Amino acid sequence: MKTETTIQGLTASLSPARGARKMIGFVPTMGNLHQGHLNLVREARKLCDVVVVSIFVNPIQFGPNEDFENYPRTLVQDSQMLAEVGCDILFAPTVEQMYGTQPRLTNISVSGITNDLCGASREGHFDGVAVVVTKLFNMVQPNYAFFGEKDYQQLAVIRQLVQDLNIPLEVIGVPIARAEDGLALSSRNGYLTEQQRALAPNIYSSLKQAEQALQQGQALAEVLQQIKLNLTQVGFDVDYVAARSLKLVPVESFNQDTQLFVAAKLGTTRLIDNVFVKYTG
Ligand code: AMP
Repeated sequence: MKTETTIQGLTASLSPARGARKMIGFVPTMGNLHQGHLNLVREARKLCDVVVVSIFVNPIQFGPNEDFENYPRTLVQDSQMLAEVGCDILFAPTVEQMYGTQPRLTNISVSGITNDLCGASREGHFDGVAVVVTKLFNMVQPNYAFFGEKDYQQLAVIRQLVQDLNIPLEVIGVPIARAEDGLALSSRNGYLTEQQRALAPNIYSSLKQAEQALQQGQALAEVLQQIKLNLTQVGFDVDYVAARSLKLVPVESFNQDTQLFVAAKLGTTRLIDNVFVKYTG
C-alpha cells in the first residue's frame, strides 16, 4: 500500500491505473477505522482494480461546538488495518493541502433533504461534507465511491450531489456494521464511558422493537413516541426520532417501506442509527 499526503503524489500514484483504464474504487473516511469502514474497503476490493481510501478529518463539516479538535486521529493503526484489508492507496492530506491558503469562495449546498434530521441540528454540516467529497472526487476521479448506510442522510446527499452535478461515478451504499450487542460501530463510540457504552445498544434495540411494533400494526406516531420514551428513561438526551421514506420524504403513517432514524446523546457523545422497516401491507 502506498501512502500519499499530497494531491500531486496521489495523482502520480493513480496515473498508471488511469492509463490502463483500471476501475478505481474510493472510500472517503475521517479515520479511526473500525470494521464498518473496513467493510466499505472490502466492497471496493470486490468491484474495483485499485482501491483508494482517504483519511481526512474535515474541519468545515464540524460546528463550532463540535468535536473537531478531539476527533480521534490514529493514522499509524489505520494504515496497518488498511494494508491488511487490501487498500492500494491511502490518501491522508493535511488541512492545508486540502483547502490551500487562499479563502474558498465556492460552496456546495444540496437543498431540501439537508434541512431535516441531522441537518436541522448540525447547521452547515452537509455543506461541509458536500464540499470535501466533491473535492476528493475530483482528486481521485473514481469509478465507484462507497459510503455507509450508518450515515443514511449523508448517503442520500451524496447520491443527490452526484446526480445533480453529473459527477461521473457510481455511488454504492454499504450496510451498517454493528457490535455484537447491536450498537452501530462508530469512531465516536470511543468517547463513551463504560457505563454509557453499556446503555448505547438501547438505540438499536428500541429501533428493532419499533420495527416489530409497526409490522404488528401499531400506529407510527405511538411507535416513535415509545422509542423516545425508552431512550429518555435510560438517560439519553434525544435529538430526534423520525420516520422517513427511503428517499427521506416524511411519512405520516406506516403505509410503505420506511426508514426509522434516531439521534441521541449520552453525555456529550452524539450517536446516530437507523433501520429499514419493510412494508408488507
Ligand atoms: P467517517 O469516518 O465516520 O466519516 O465514515 C466514513 C464512512 O464510513 C462513511 O461512509 C460512513 O457512513 C461509513 N461508516 C461509518 N461507520 C459505519 C458502520 N458502522 N457501518 C457501515 N459504514 C460505516
